[in-house]
Amino acid sequence: MIIGSHVHFNNEQILGATKEAISYGANAFMLYTGAPQNTQRSAINKTYIEEALKLMQENNIDLNNVICHAPYIINLANKEKIDSWNFSISFLKREIQRCEELNIKYIVLHPGSSVNLSKEEGIQNIIEALNYVINPQDKCMIILETMAGKGSECGATLEEIKAIIDGVNSDNIGVCLDTCHLNDAGYDMQNFDDFLDEFDKIIGLERVKCIHINDSKNPVNSHKDRHANIGYGYIGFPTLIKIVNNNRIKDVPKILETPYINKNDNEKELVYPPYKFEIAMLKSGQFNENLFNDIREYYK
Ligand code: FE
Ligand code: FE
Ligand code: ZN
Repeated sequence: MIIGSHVHFNNEQILGATKEAISYGANAFMLYTGAPQNTQRSAINKTYIEEALKLMQENNIDLNNVICHAPYIINLANKEKIDSWNFSISFLKREIQRCEELNIKYIVLHPGSSVNLSKEEGIQNIIEALNYVINPQDKCMIILETMAGKGSECGATLEEIKAIIDGVNSDNIGVCLDTCHLNDAGYDMQNFDDFLDEFDKIIGLERVKCIHINDSKNPVNSHKDRHANIGYGYIGFPTLIKIVNNNRIKDVPKILETPYINKNDNEKELVYPPYKFEIAMLKSGQFNENLFNDIREYYK
């Protein structure tokens, strides 16, 4: 099973990210190359890359299973404020350059929100922007994340993702599934093989390069996008277990983006990462009823 979580890039950049992933027992991971909500970026440190590559090798982490996530302030779908749209394009280009420096093969992108425009206009804007962004020289592939359909989000249906892929003048584009988003968008994860059949018919399974494994705080078709811990949401443990063990996507890295845990039930602040324990549950197939307390006990 190729499995990991999103990790931090702030201490020692990719070296710190690798160490964090290893501490969770992961053999894959996903990172933002800086804060997802701002544009401050530190220069890529070459020494950290070399040390990280060595550490990855020693711990069976294949660089193909290291994923970048583009900052979510990027919105390619709305062109009403042309400066913001142009900014999104140039910022995404810069992020891809950082992936090239880091030798990262995949960057996850939220297609964007159309805001006051129609979905069709939003999708046309995304296509136009991606055609500016994608450079045939780049090795890093943009992978479009399936969205929950909250507000005016584009890319909540397979048909919308397909329309974007068809409009782009490059074959170097893939898809990132997110189980919480799919559930919230109206795709029932209980019938995952039926979903994969539909995906294969509309888009083609070979496009799937990453899967975000999250439970959902809301039922199917709620259009909410609130992630729950593994087995503590509406998708549920048995279904998530079937998904991570599905043979048709066995080579695709699975990345957890579930919420951190609070110190106790009265505390609002979420401080402890759940990933070491959730990865262990998914690998073993055993649900841990004591998940939150075990995490608190381990990190306190
Ligand atoms: Fe995302
Ligand atoms: Fe996601
Ligand atoms: Zn989400």
